[in-house]
Amino acid sequence: MNSITSEARPICDLCHSTGELAQSEITDPDGNLSGSWGFQRCTACGVYWLDPAPPPHEIWKAYATYHTHTRKSGNKVARAALSLIHRLIKLCLLPLWVVNGMKREADYLRFMTLADEPVGVLLDVGCGGGRLLNRMQKRGWQVEGIDFDEKACEKVTKRYGIRAHVGDLAQCNLAADSFDVICMSQTIEHLYDPMTTLRECLRILKPGGLLVMTTPNAQSLGAGEFGKFWRGWEAPRHLHLFTVKSLEQLTRQSGFDVTNADTYSAGSAVVYRVSRTNQRGGNLSWLEELGMLIWSYRRELQEYRAQNTHPHTGQNVLIRARKPAH
Ligand SMILES: [Zn+2]
Repeated sequence: MNSITSEARPICDLCHSTGELAQSEITDPDGNLSGSWGFQRCTACGVYWLDPAPPPHEIWKAYATYHTHTRKSGNKVARAALSLIHRLIKLCLLPLWVVNGMKREADYLRFMTLADEPVGVLLDVGCGGGRLLNRMQKRGWQVEGIDFDEKACEKVTKRYGIRAHVGDLAQCNLAADSFDVICMSQTIEHLYDPMTTLRECLRILKPGGLLVMTTPNAQSLGAGEFGKFWRGWEAPRHLHLFTVKSLEQLTRQSGFDVTNADTYSAGSAVVYRVSRTNQRGGNLSWLEELGMLIWSYRRELQEYRAQNTHPHTGQNVLIRARKPAH
């Protein structure tokens, strides 16, 4: 296990109010970093922030063995069999998903809600391995990405021939009024200063341009059910977490007109699986993993249906917002 320095952050850095402890004793879900962290919830603006948190010069340690870089271990044959069964389960569930609307929601999110938007110039902030950029480029969009991860950016350019800037959006100094759409999929929660990034997005979007964001929902059913084991906390890599209301408010404060603010459940099965594995301390037999696969899709479906009576409790927050045209 590696260690990382963490410093107290007693005040909300977005509105400078005090908070109340929302969750404590969260450990690194990947088990690579020693220590535990907590989240405070701001009593004024409702944003959740990591306290204590690694200082910016130490945060690279939290990504040195990040799950997007590592391969899964374990018995290869059992893993291949599970993967095959997983595909079969998804295939069997497909008709149900089509009928109840979950398939439509999943497709909507697969293209970051942009399938019916006129094609234009798109920037993906936090582009990772570039899968969204590749998908959108194939649909005729002119795309580029940005990410802190140098290796990921190199891969995007090498594999897809897409330009990817390395570093912080605010320091990249991209041209004003130059993008039709900016996407931030599961990115804003990793930022030290989300408001500065949102204001930079506003500056570089064309008037009337669209910002689409997704991020874990701190008031999701999963967060309530799993407490410190909920995967969405992802300490110490997630520095701020949001609810529909708090992210909508921050986006408006940054100068945008928010057009949609909601939650969704597509893809939440994996969060249920990882959260439950965390809770049980890992190391499940393949039979237990199989049971959990089925259980997780049932939970995803229950969460999706619960939106009818308990809105804004889906696994992820979705915000669509436009830069004012004038
Ligand atoms: Zn606040």
